[in-house]
Amino acid sequence: MPTPIRHDYRREEILALFDLPFTELVFRAASVHREHFDPTRVQVSTLLSIKTGGCPEDCGYCPQAARYDTGVAAQKLMDADDVLARARQARDAGATRFCMGAAWRSPKDRDIPKVAAMIRAVRGLGLETCATLGMLSADQALALKDAGLDYYNHNLDTAPEFYDSVIGTRVYQDRLDTLAAVRAAGMKTCCGGIVGMGESREQRAGLLQTLANLPEHPESVPVNLLVQVPGTPLAGTAALDPFEFVRTIAVARLLMPASTVRLSAGREAMNDEMQGLCFLAGANSIFYGEKLLTTDNPETDRDRRLFERLGLSVLTVAPQQDSDASGCGSACACTTGAAEADAEAAMEEVV
Ligand code: SF4
Repeated sequence: MPTPIRHDYRREEILALFDLPFTELVFRAASVHREHFDPTRVQVSTLLSIKTGGCPEDCGYCPQAARYDTGVAAQKLMDADDVLARARQARDAGATRFCMGAAWRSPKDRDIPKVAAMIRAVRGLGLETCATLGMLSADQALALKDAGLDYYNHNLDTAPEFYDSVIGTRVYQDRLDTLAAVRAAGMKTCCGGIVGMGESREQRAGLLQTLANLPEHPESVPVNLLVQVPGTPLAGTAALDPFEFVRTIAVARLLMPASTVRLSAGREAMNDEMQGLCFLAGANSIFYGEKLLTTDNPETDRDRRLFERLGLSVLTVAPQQDSDASGCGSACACTTGAAEADAEAAMEEVV
């Protein structure tokens, strides 16, 4: 009998999963993974920052916040033709989803038609579309849906009780409200968080509990490992034990069996062995970053070698074929991440 989809997890039972012996936890997660997915296939998304830096928010992990001196130069919204060219490159390189991230607290109404035009154009290439633009009103969500947006990325970042240790310019309920607006508009959600920000295991459990107890599980759950960018308040945070990160992946897989769990920001710092463990524990999506797959990008070559070493292949799914079960298989910059061009380090709300 397949693992039931639940929305009533208690903190204690999630902590009990975290506390399992590592081998038992990974075995359970790998078993559940097979109920909904082919464990040899990995979905690949590409993320483009369409508006970089200069953000008024104060997310403690983010180099795009204007208030931190991180060397990220603010850029205005990209031209739609340039976005389309990048999307075409991504598609030709094998990406199935194209995520567009903008460093905004929330888009202005005048920005929506411009982003909507990008969405229509990218979709016209046969790619799934995802955007992460900050907080949305109900009307903005509907407009993006009308333009053909498949997924909206909006991360919860961390547990409710740890949120104000990381972000002071908005509250947790703001995130939940935007997620509700996105769902009400009929879009899929890409929603996860960041670990390694100094939170406790109980708070990691709290993040996963909140995600899994949403009215619908996010189709895509990006799990980011903090990238410590000099100049951000979280630079210098004690590093998370890599096995604890794998445990977080495994518990996410167990709580949200039909969601795509994505390795997002922080992957550059993970060795092949750790990434292999993550795939074993139920991760089934990655971001390639925006410097594309067909270019001479060392990072891309490394991913190719990793897939070859592990015998994994890239999932190729046309937008219309993507099922609700596999969900946002990919993801959007959703979480954080790395969206930025050169900032493999950059974490967007995305991702
Ligand atoms: S994570 Fe997003 S909202 Fe927060 S500072 Fe960065 S760009 Fe702004």
